[in-house]
Amino acid sequence: MKYEPIIGLEVHVQVKTKSKMFCDCPAAYFNNKPNSHVCPVCLGLPGALPVPNKLAVEKCLRLALALNCSINKHSKFDRKNYFYPDLPKGYQISQFDLPFGYEGYFEIGINGDNRRIRVTRVHMEEDTGKSLHEEGKTLLDYNKSGIPLAEIVSEPDFTSTEEVLEFAKRLRQTVRYLDISDANMERGQMRFELNMSLREQGKRGLPDYKVEVKNIGSISVLEKVINFESARQAEILESGKTPTQETRGLKDMTGETVSQRIKEESEDYRYFPEPDIPPLNFSDKQIKKLEESVIELPQAKKDRYVAELGLEPDTAETIISKKARFTWFEKLVKGESNPKLIKELAKWLIGDLSALLKADRSKLADLKFNHTQFKNLISLLLEGKLSGTLAKKVLAIMYKTGRAPEDIVKEEGMEIVSDTAEIKKIARSVINDNKKVAEDVKKNPNAVKFLVGQIMQVTRGKANPNVAEQVLREMLELPV
Ligand code: ZN
Ligand code: MN
Repeated sequence: MKYEPIIGLEVHVQVKTKSKMFCDCPAAYFNNKPNSHVCPVCLGLPGALPVPNKLAVEKCLRLALALNCSINKHSKFDRKNYFYPDLPKGYQISQFDLPFGYEGYFEIGINGDNRRIRVTRVHMEEDTGKSLHEEGKTLLDYNKSGIPLAEIVSEPDFTSTEEVLEFAKRLRQTVRYLDISDANMERGQMRFELNMSLREQGKRGLPDYKVEVKNIGSISVLEKVINFESARQAEILESGKTPTQETRGLKDMTGETVSQRIKEESEDYRYFPEPDIPPLNFSDKQIKKLEESVIELPQAKKDRYVAELGLEPDTAETIISKKARFTWFEKLVKGESNPKLIKELAKWLIGDLSALLKADRSKLADLKFNHTQFKNLISLLLEGKLSGTLAKKVLAIMYKTGRAPEDIVKEEGMEIVSDTAEIKKIARSVINDNKKVAEDVKKNPNAVKFLVGQIMQVTRGKANPNVAEQVLREMLELPV
């Protein structure tokens, strides 16, 4: 039997703020001394009163808006009760029936098509502390307790691993774009839970069971879990049984899962309104202002680069992947309408310029030359005043010195040789040195390119390649 996976995701993202969700303890807990960032509120001591962090609430609302959610203008916090040592209050402050955002969607690109994944809700809650298991003992660090979290819940709309991974990557990019979170996975700033079942291919509707897997800390493990669960559930279904509806945890980083508990229902959490925090009300004006701060999102940006600027999807993807890069690129092509120049600029930005920066561990912000100078360099190339090889050399000098490309060309004698007579002389000797290739040109169209390459090599990139090819074609009696 052939099956397809039916998957829904829950994503927890740590919202980037200075202080914690309900107290003024510093939120930067990573690598800090255990229990050094704690107070009565985040330790859950009796009588302590939580006060919501305005910035965290705003960032969560912005995320909900970015995911096309409707906003509950009247919202509140609720207590989610469960007992676990890393939860000092015995409950987590979360949101139950009035999440900040509901019924949204997130668009992802799959094989050149866009697909909408429905977002059930976006709500706000607090993170728990951290348990460290050592030599049969459990140690607790509450520095993480009370860090603001945004939780994104999707509908079970994914039917392939590819879609899940694309969603995860786009979402990570999106929260970074909007400065909602750094989404650093190694630091646990973005975590996944998935619910998954298998459906016979061709059938419709949801299967009558689902398996939840918790605490997935990276996108690569997410992929492994889906593969493992696909095989495990298929085997059970093949034997004529139905997989148990349960919560499973990771055995290790291989993606293998083990049963943890038979799934609890929401009533097990005895949700009730948080009595210590008054309900929140947002005005249309407040929401509109937040909505305006939602900049163009990665997928929309990529689609626009392809449709309007004529970039290849892969090139567009590389440029949008970093905020600094697309910001630099957009300034570079602002007001530019020549599609050939735009494409070439994009190519050189992610190619040679990025390579120079990478080798140097530098950033675009550290460049000694400006956007106009870079554009002038590429224009010289397109006008045939520089060959590719020379342009590379000029760029390297620009990179080191910040001098203007026109000055470098002049002062370093890098002007291209377009003089036909001079190139003819060189072409003659190149043909002489490569008699076999020259005889082959009529059968092998690549032979001309090879000979052009030889001319470029002899002239150290200074011959005009167009003139060189023209001259060669004339001399070898090929159609020009
Ligand atoms: Zn605190
Ligand atoms: Mn949660």
